[in-house]
Amino acid sequence: SFERALAFVPGVISSQGVVMAFVLLHRERSEAAARYLATVDALTGCLNRRALELRVREEIAHAQRHQRPCALLVFDLDHFKRINDAHGHAGGDAVLVHAATVLRAGVRTGDFVGRYGGEEFCVLLRETGAEGAMAVAERLRGTLAVTPVSVAEAAVRVGASVGVAAFDPSAGEGWEALFRRADDALYRAKRAGRGRCELAPASVAELAERLSGIPSP
Ligand code: GH3
Ligand code: MG
Ligand code: MG
Repeated sequence: SFERALAFVPGVISSQGVVMAFVLLHRERSEAAARYLATVDALTGCLNRRALELRVREEIAHAQRHQRPCALLVFDLDHFKRINDAHGHAGGDAVLVHAATVLRAGVRTGDFVGRYGGEEFCVLLRETGAEGAMAVAERLRGTLAVTPVSVAEAAVRVGASVGVAAFDPSAGEGWEALFRRADDALYRAKRAGRGRCELAPASVAELAERLSGIPSP
């Protein structure tokens, strides 16, 4: 009868509702998954370049607003081409994963690590000035240098050169300028023989401020 047929309606609706909820939930989940996947580097699991830049920009804005220090480290693996040549691309990839793991394990909660490009990684240290940043950079570099990665039968060690730039909240420097200073310092570390950390000179704005604070004769 019609009444008996009607009795099924709520059941049909609710089971459709369950299906719909499931679809929505699934869709929301895959959107969340997609959002997550858009921020991570597929090989190493650390932030990809775009997400790294966004996070550093946020961190700089925060440091600026609250007049707090922070620091950017740029790591470039030394003679990485040789590792690829000796152990193949898959071996090189394993070394990249290892390097990212060492960096991430060696920083505090709230600090973050991103893969800037091929074998270059950035580390952002919150609440850290030049001296502290150099100490962390040297510790991370040292850990990386002494921890071997097993690639097939071989135990591979990888060195790194590091450029360190301390953000000065009084300088109002952006991501580009901060990165450039760290990258210049990295270049000097390479030129000086690799396997070392170099500290970038203070930003121009910071120097100007310091000079303007010096009383004229
Ligand atoms: P340097 O000490 O001057 O940094 O020497 P290098 O050999 O590390 O420098 P270079 O920048 O010339 O070479 C980087 C190499 O990294 C080149 C490229 O083949 C390799 N590379 C970049 N991305 C990847 C990757 O995702 N996987 C692997 N296995 N190798 C990569
Ligand atoms: Mg490089
Ligand atoms: Mg390199």
